[in-house]
Amino acid sequence: MKIKSVRTRVLQWTGKTVPPAQNFCTNPSDALFERGDNMGSFRFHEWLVCEIETDDGIVGLGNAALAPQIAKQIIDLYLTSLIVGEDPFDNEYLWQKMYRRTMAWGRKGIGMVAISAVDIALWDIMGKASAKPVFKLLGGRTKECIPVYASKLYSQPLDQLSEEAQSYLDQGFNMMKMRFGWGPKDGPEGVTRNIELVRTLREVVGDEVDIMVEAYMGWNLDYAKRIIPKLQPFNPRWLEEPVIPDDIAGYAELNNNSGIPISGGEHEFTLFGFKQLLDAGAVSVIQYDNNRVGGFTAAQKINALAEAYQVPVIPHAGQMHNYHLTMSNLNCPISEFFPVHDVEIGNELFYYVFKGDSTPVDGMIDLDDDKPGLGLEIAEDNLKDFTIIE
Ligand SMILES: [Mg+2]
Repeated sequence: MKIKSVRTRVLQWTGKTVPPAQNFCTNPSDALFERGDNMGSFRFHEWLVCEIETDDGIVGLGNAALAPQIAKQIIDLYLTSLIVGEDPFDNEYLWQKMYRRTMAWGRKGIGMVAISAVDIALWDIMGKASAKPVFKLLGGRTKECIPVYASKLYSQPLDQLSEEAQSYLDQGFNMMKMRFGWGPKDGPEGVTRNIELVRTLREVVGDEVDIMVEAYMGWNLDYAKRIIPKLQPFNPRWLEEPVIPDDIAGYAELNNNSGIPISGGEHEFTLFGFKQLLDAGAVSVIQYDNNRVGGFTAAQKINALAEAYQVPVIPHAGQMHNYHLTMSNLNCPISEFFPVHDVEIGNELFYYVFKGDSTPVDGMIDLDDDKPGLGLEIAEDNLKDFTIIE
């Protein structure tokens, strides 16, 4: 079997969007003097679809959501010629070829995002060619179902936050994650607003539901050290991305001394990036996303390393490319789930681009033992709501 062709498309959402509430989520740009929409660069209203076809007609489906137009260019200009004519089952060789041929400028960030999209498509091919779901090629079923946590609860008026949290309880979720709305420049008043969010959530869900709290890189070490003691009474399962990804020492200080487990890695890349985090004791939970970190080929190496450190891996986003990893690794206990709703920040756009993603029932998702590959298809009926860059 040989790879015949690679097709990349960027799907830009032109349908209805919901404007997010003010202060809906902290982010790295909060530290700047900036007027206007400081969350603009963290909205994901386009998605990259990468289809790789073999000479016997199998089409593997990969995807990426970070800077999709640039990821597309990297695949088109640099990666396609490296893999056409090769055997898709030589995935380790092909990964190393893509990694090493782009080493001067790739390694992390968007170069690795592009490699991830290709690698995911190659694993989809391997699954389809073997008539097995991808998780059966990775180690198979390690759990009956995957418990998932509802991940939205952006900063919003407290009555609406309560209502949203209650809706997740009603749907059977017993874990959920909220976002903070204020950071260092918002002073003591912002601290109060943040604490009100957590208090409200804890009051709605009671003590027997896990709550996770997320700063999305929008704080710094000093602010995190000052606010964490006020968060402790609400017993969050973890505090996510409290500082920027490059502040590994800050991560480690918080993780080792703050009393709240720190999670991160959603903006980290490859085995080497995660070795640094693990060696430093920087995180208690690893949260790579398969479609950024280097695809299945890289993710499985990180899984092995994290298992040796006994640090659980709970991938960013859920979605099929991550669920297959969670199902096949004992050290991946649960998964994130973005509730399906109108397009807001863009995390939910995945459900408009693809069909076949597993739907939670009572807070659990399952994967089909008999569905080959990733189990995804392009949602052709929805393409009318996109501008397509071919
Ligand atoms: Mg996150």
